[in-house]
Amino acid sequence: MFDIASCLSGHDPDALPVPVARQAIARLLPAPPAAESVPLRESLGRVLAEDIVSGLQVPPQDNAAMDGYALRGTDLAGEGPTRLTIAGTSLAGDQPAAELPPGHCRRIMTGAAMPDGLDTVVPQEFVQRDDTQGCIVIPAGVLKPGANRRLAGEDLALGEVALRAGRRLAPADLGLMASLGKAEVPVRRRLRVAILATGDELRPVGTTPLPPGCIYDSNRHTMWAMLQRLGVCEVLDHGVVADDPAALRAAFTRAAAEADVVISSGGVSVGEADHTKAVMAELGEVLFWKLAMRPGRPLAIGRIGEALLFGLPGNPVAVMVSFYAFVREALLALAGATPAPLPLLRARLTSPLRKKAGRTEYQRGIVGRAADGGGWQVEITGSQGSGVLSSMSRANGLLVLDHAAGDLPAGAEVDVIPFEGLI
Ligand code: AMP
Ligand code: MG
Repeated sequence: MFDIASCLSGHDPDALPVPVARQAIARLLPAPPAAESVPLRESLGRVLAEDIVSGLQVPPQDNAAMDGYALRGTDLAGEGPTRLTIAGTSLAGDQPAAELPPGHCRRIMTGAAMPDGLDTVVPQEFVQRDDTQGCIVIPAGVLKPGANRRLAGEDLALGEVALRAGRRLAPADLGLMASLGKAEVPVRRRLRVAILATGDELRPVGTTPLPPGCIYDSNRHTMWAMLQRLGVCEVLDHGVVADDPAALRAAFTRAAAEADVVISSGGVSVGEADHTKAVMAELGEVLFWKLAMRPGRPLAIGRIGEALLFGLPGNPVAVMVSFYAFVREALLALAGATPAPLPLLRARLTSPLRKKAGRTEYQRGIVGRAADGGGWQVEITGSQGSGVLSSMSRANGLLVLDHAAGDLPAGAEVDVIPFEGLI
């Protein structure tokens, strides 16, 4: 794993730029897990393991796009009205009707198969019916031959790749696979991700009263929730671990043995005198990074046994920011997903912002439409301390302030990762 050192060479080890760290992590990732077959609905959010090739045409036959009358385009009069005799009705689900003699049309409903030889549908609201004669009259110029007919295979052609392997399956994809008749879908096995929180001060929720000097462990719950939202993980909760070498050794060993990825929080701070770093270094190959970012400067990254390790900082906002800056992308790639950058909004700052050049800053903001209709604007959610989790909870987006940027005036455009669909 330490061939990633070449990625890092030439960079300040005390201020590793975020993009460099991301590239280095991408080189650490082992192959994705094996494939398994799941029922269609269980595939939502999972990573497709094989291309889905269309085994039929969708739609399977030409059919009507409107309620009206099916006719032969060549029967439409060049000038003046067209008069056609009505011959029967085709409903959705009926077998395609046999060909009609020239000068005839057939009542047809949306989705019904086009009768053989007919290629055009005139919507019912365009025609006058002459029920005494069993005829319709179509005024001149209301439609062209071929109108209002859906062609067989216009959605999916036979043999076409409908969905590519590596796709995270979304609602439309489930519908698309259903339209191909697929009841089972090949997906990657979920990543097994073990989470644990380290720190002597931490108590699990439900502990009452909270002893003096202690805090409730929130990180494990945020981590669990972020992992659930990713949709590609099975989360194994290894609880709160005290900052004690034997306890840490046992917890990390157990977690690494049963998981593809271990994610811990706490104990990796720069210059920290606790035992977490020592135990990680003893059990595996681990790098302790100091990143040029805020929040979330420290990050441990490496392997314990076969498992990939992410040692996140302890501060609750830093946990979330580090997860979205590094872990999310790595887990998706590890799960076999084709990389897709997060969509960013460009939004104008409502107030000036202090920003130190030479590090990437992630600030929590509320983004909305500007009152003047001129696109998006963003305001910061109060205190940006890395322990102030309420700043994250109040926000609906994360401002990503570029490594090189300095202080920004009101009105400056910044990148914002919207939480909708992510968090
Ligand atoms: P550390 O990275 O261990 O130095 O922790 C940094 C800060 O985050 C300290 O104030 C910790 O108390 C706090 N912290 C660490 N782990 C957690 C946790 N699981 N839940 C809430 N706060 C935490
Ligand atoms: Mg600690």
